[in-house]
Amino acid sequence: MDSASTYQAVQAVAPGRLELVRKPNRDPGPGEVRIRVEACGVCHSDAGTVEGQFPIDWPRVPGHEAVGRIDALGAHVQGWAIGQRVGVGFLGGSCGYCQYCRGGDLVNCRNQEFTGIHRDGGYAEMLIARASGLMSIPEDLSSVNAAPLLCAGLTTFSALRNAPAKPGDLVAVLGIGGLGHLGVQYARHMGFEVAAIARGGEKVALAKKLGAHHYIDSAGTNPAEALQGLGGAKVILVTASGGKMVAETFKGLRPGGVSVIVGASPDPIEVSSTDLIFGSRKLEGALTGDPATGDEALRFSALSGVSAMIETVPLEKAADAYAKMMAGKARFRIVLTMG
Ligand SMILES: [Zn+2]
Ligand SMILES: [Zn+2]
Repeated sequence: MDSASTYQAVQAVAPGRLELVRKPNRDPGPGEVRIRVEACGVCHSDAGTVEGQFPIDWPRVPGHEAVGRIDALGAHVQGWAIGQRVGVGFLGGSCGYCQYCRGGDLVNCRNQEFTGIHRDGGYAEMLIARASGLMSIPEDLSSVNAAPLLCAGLTTFSALRNAPAKPGDLVAVLGIGGLGHLGVQYARHMGFEVAAIARGGEKVALAKKLGAHHYIDSAGTNPAEALQGLGGAKVILVTASGGKMVAETFKGLRPGGVSVIVGASPDPIEVSSTDLIFGSRKLEGALTGDPATGDEALRFSALSGVSAMIETVPLEKAADAYAKMMAGKARFRIVLTMG
């Protein structure tokens, strides 16, 4: 195979093993597009593929924060053009005919594949994607800057946008990592009073720089009491894992407030029924967002200057980048670049 008919990719071949390979190019099928990838973010959820946390049909190319230009259109694709810059997130594209799609809930489509899990993702020079999952990249956002916004950005943006807080309300962001450092910026630019919560004192300056009005050190203070001291949070965006921390912070909600979980963890969350009932508080989860919300997250980011703190790594070094991210050493998002 010559280099025009093949492309470079990094694929998971067994739990914990990534290999650099060349794969044969193929044409997009009906409803699909082929994308020449320019950048792909490395996300903690890539462990779902690489560590085999999901049932994986090996080998599988991970990556669900892919940005590139459409290179070929499959049959029946409308509304997208060759050369257009697009993004692919975790949700691989809705079917349009299931009960949830018909009700307008594209996120929970019953026939939706997850990018990099059920089909090959963006740790590659080429990617075949369903047109129904594509997001449109604004001109003034570089591919590298756009990549982390397709998962980490969309997830925090969508959760905050769908939450009941109004401008001026106190919104807390629990955890200042890959998700949280974007969550704080979005919360500030959406007009909320923002409290960032993290362990220890070393993130104070960063939290303030990202736009937090308050910093709560959960190691030195009781975060729920600190939030109540500020009047109680209308929304707590939970980006850090650790069920104990989520439960401890929950009592910082004011009546009618909601804790929205976007950071996945196997930990159970122990919240007492009285804390739910008295004050009518809610605990809920949010799974990324639909493509239209993705378009808006990208536009809002470009307009307001919200951006991830990024380190770029060439595709060939994807295994190192993944290991660094898994070790919790990424500050805060790693983006793979191609060519
Ligand atoms: Zn992700
Ligand atoms: Zn559907």
